[in-house]
Amino acid sequence: MIFDLETKQRKEIWNYLSEKLESYYANTEIIDVVNNENRAEVLKTIDADFNTARSTEEAIDKVVKGLKQHAVHTPHPLYYGMFNPRSSFPSIVADAITATFNPQLAAWGHAPYAVEIEHMLIQEIGKKFGYEQPNIDGVFTTGGQEANLTALLTALNNKFSDYAEEGLHAVSGTPIIYCSKASHHATIKAAKICGLGINSVKYIEVDDNQKMIPFKLENEILNDLSKGKIPLMIVSTMGTTGAGAIDPINEISVIAKKYSIWLHADAAYGGAVVLTQKYKYLQKGIEKADSITFDAHKWLSVPMATSMFITKHRNILSKTFSITANFMPQEEDDISKLGSYTHSIQWSRRFIGLKLYMPLLVFGWKGFDETISHQMKMGQLLKRKLEANNWKLYNNTELPIACFTDVEFGNEPEFSTYIYESFLETGEAWLINYPVGNKFTLRACITNYNTTEAHLDKLINLLNKKRAIYKKEHNLVTI
Ligand SMILES: *Cc1c(COP(=O)(O)O)cnc(C)c1O
Repeated sequence: MIFDLETKQRKEIWNYLSEKLESYYANTEIIDVVNNENRAEVLKTIDADFNTARSTEEAIDKVVKGLKQHAVHTPHPLYYGMFNPRSSFPSIVADAITATFNPQLAAWGHAPYAVEIEHMLIQEIGKKFGYEQPNIDGVFTTGGQEANLTALLTALNNKFSDYAEEGLHAVSGTPIIYCSKASHHATIKAAKICGLGINSVKYIEVDDNQKMIPFKLENEILNDLSKGKIPLMIVSTMGTTGAGAIDPINEISVIAKKYSIWLHADAAYGGAVVLTQKYKYLQKGIEKADSITFDAHKWLSVPMATSMFITKHRNILSKTFSITANFMPQEEDDISKLGSYTHSIQWSRRFIGLKLYMPLLVFGWKGFDETISHQMKMGQLLKRKLEANNWKLYNNTELPIACFTDVEFGNEPEFSTYIYESFLETGEAWLINYPVGNKFTLRACITNYNTTEAHLDKLINLLNKKRAIYKKEHNLVTI
């Protein structure tokens, strides 16, 4: 048995595979975005017979067919979805290279080229966010969840000097984490994982635009201080997952500074605009944060799992993750400190950063600026077209996310559910239903760089058609 197969076979398989993948990549648009799934049907398609050997081609056929039939096609231009992109082609190539070389990034000495590329990318992206170079540090993570957990751990190590040795025993009271009611649940999960518990998270009220209200934040902090609690971290969301709201980080940073609280900016999605000349102003003030979460696998159009934790506190990651008993800040210059095992949650780890490095080599900053700006433009156009067709917007963001419903049905969950389910049924496009405040809206986000005005028109036509059917079915006549 040879795991390598033979050279001749391999060449045939590479060709076979590239034909299959190219066919999917080039023709994503002509398949349905989604199938209304049934678990029994899915399980029927999974071959679990490992007593028979088969050709790699046969295995490829099975898997490609299964994924084609039973997945929401996030690379489709009519996927107006969550922040799951179509992967740029160079980033797909990157994953193939990484799998083949399988470099081990745990320690510098095993993969210096790869470790240094990731280090350089963290510096470059950190600069785009406005951090100053000698202070920038960070790590590639598997996602925003790991990056937010990293942030919480660094905040704990920053606040409690004995935390590395004593863990939660070094914590003298009840640490509190603040984030807005519209923030991602990754924060609460991080609190749960690291032993502080769900109740350590306080959700701060948001205004009509889903942004955190700074004076409410300060009131909560004062209230907690009066009870002897320890304000530990504030999470400012720089583009909420639902409505795309950007918290007022400048005002929040003043409060963070006043009470010496670690400020974390969750820019998992919205951070991408710092790569554009025109829209980078939207993230102004983010450089005041102590740390930042930024997902490349959202708006930078690279495959999962590619995210970054970036900080302006050079020594905090080593303090948090180094396993040497007595961490000395001067060790930071040692190249061994660049390896992920002393620097992040992970030990063995893959070359995550290559998925960002390859498209940057191919398209440059300019390519990202153009692509992200195009998506911003499509978002503005979508909003205008919706309004022109009697759909009312219930969110207010410059980011390309529209939360909307029919003017008449803003308080009726049945309507948005009907539209959502109807799309699942027909597979022509994908969007979700999502409540903004007390309004049951539909949410469409431009996640795909291939989405053009023609695709927007297609969505609007489908929405109009479905709304008309709903009205007819419910005997609703618009006067
Ligand atoms: C997506 C998202 C997360 C979670 O990130 P993953 O990459 O899914 O782990 C956290 N915060 C925000 C604001 C997000 O949009």
